[in-house]
Amino acid sequence: MRKIECISVFDMLKVGVGPSSSHTLGPWRAAQRWIAELKNKERFDSVDKIHIDLYGSLSLTGKGHATDIATLLGLLGHDPVTMDIALIASEIERVKTSGKLLLNGEREIDFTFAEDIKFNRKFLEFHPNGMTFRACLENGKKTSSSFYSIGGGFVVKKERKNASKKMKNFQEFPFPIEKATELQAYCKAENKPISSIVLENERSLRTDAEIDANLKQIWQVMLESMYIGCHTEGTLPGGLNVKRRAFEMHQRLIGDTAYTSVEDWIPAIRQTEVKFRQILKWVSCFALSVNEVNASLGRVVTAPTNGSAGTVPAVLMYYLVIENHDATFEDIKRFMLVAGEIGSLFKKGATISAAMGGCQAEIGVSSAMAAGGLTELMGGTPEQVLMASEIAMEHHLGLTCDPIAGLVQVPCIERNAMGAIKAINAAEIAMESDASKAKVPLDKVIETMWETAKDMNKKYKETSEGGLAVKVSLSDC
Ligand code: SF4
Repeated sequence: MRKIECISVFDMLKVGVGPSSSHTLGPWRAAQRWIAELKNKERFDSVDKIHIDLYGSLSLTGKGHATDIATLLGLLGHDPVTMDIALIASEIERVKTSGKLLLNGEREIDFTFAEDIKFNRKFLEFHPNGMTFRACLENGKKTSSSFYSIGGGFVVKKERKNASKKMKNFQEFPFPIEKATELQAYCKAENKPISSIVLENERSLRTDAEIDANLKQIWQVMLESMYIGCHTEGTLPGGLNVKRRAFEMHQRLIGDTAYTSVEDWIPAIRQTEVKFRQILKWVSCFALSVNEVNASLGRVVTAPTNGSAGTVPAVLMYYLVIENHDATFEDIKRFMLVAGEIGSLFKKGATISAAMGGCQAEIGVSSAMAAGGLTELMGGTPEQVLMASEIAMEHHLGLTCDPIAGLVQVPCIERNAMGAIKAINAAEIAMESDASKAKVPLDKVIETMWETAKDMNKKYKETSEGGLAVKVSLSDC
């Protein structure tokens, strides 16, 4: 029997806190899982002291990606989906100044922020994003546990204890999918669009009401991240002095059109004049806004990662405000089902981790996801949807990850705008093409991306040791 991971749309699209899914959300989740482990083993109540080791990419770009902060928030018992992000700074400051940590909000222990989270340059063998939690217990014994943040907020242990459970889930899927060709074959056999096939799989995991409620929550967070980004001015944190650009761009685009809330915003944008230049600017503005929110530890949806969180909402927003003024939740739902499935094909066949594959694994995948979703909404056939995703990735192949100062700002924020524009163009080209004559099938581009990832020099894989990250330094900014 083939081993194929079961990946839900809600594994690909997750509510999280910026700036990075692999370096912020993943370590946060790992800390929560370690607390649960300690409790399961009945060791939590005797923890006397803890220490965290960050390895490889988590160490090299961990400060800029707020890995230490996210880990601490997880240890304090906060959840990335529900925590009031306005409290993050004060929570961290309290630990730093008091030298105490209230483990899971329950047990106070000594903790020295500058010493008890250690950044190690060494890479662990299993994955470039490794971390080990260590605890000294009151009886003098020690316990430790290692986790790996494999991209998109996914966290695994080396032994992958969840694999059998996921396999079980997979076997229950009515339409098991590992390759794009299998997805295409189901669409043909059932005479259904991709979104319907994906929906049938989701229905084997949760009810229709749950699917709709979760998708509405995902869209609300996406919309709010665009809204907040377009209405927040100033400079991003971290020392690069990057000015937030979505605010002024939005002001110029919206002009005097009146609105009072996030709900009024979409109809207001629909009233603005849009020629080609304005369309480019609106799409860019939506993408920039999300990633400016992400860069300031705001709440976004990983799609498939935080660094690439702006591409998918920017393209969906483009459809709602430019392409189809009568669009409803059903359109949003179909877009997300397709986008999530395309992302999962890349996760199964290649990677969505920049530490494994560079930026092609983040922005390239987000662009492919958005291109696929948009093509289905524009009336494309399943073949055209897959072709659009292929085109979007084809022109991101080899894209390296080289964030300046380890911050998810330059080149990351603009890259989302470029990924969104490419996605729209890929969809248009696919709509004008006979997809049966496509020279490069989606599965081939996924394989190529993975081969390229393996060939890519390590310094271009979220280490900030190559590319723009070494050409431009903090002192230049
Ligand atoms: S360069 Fe790309 S992959 Fe690297 S941190 Fe920025 S957005 Fe993520």
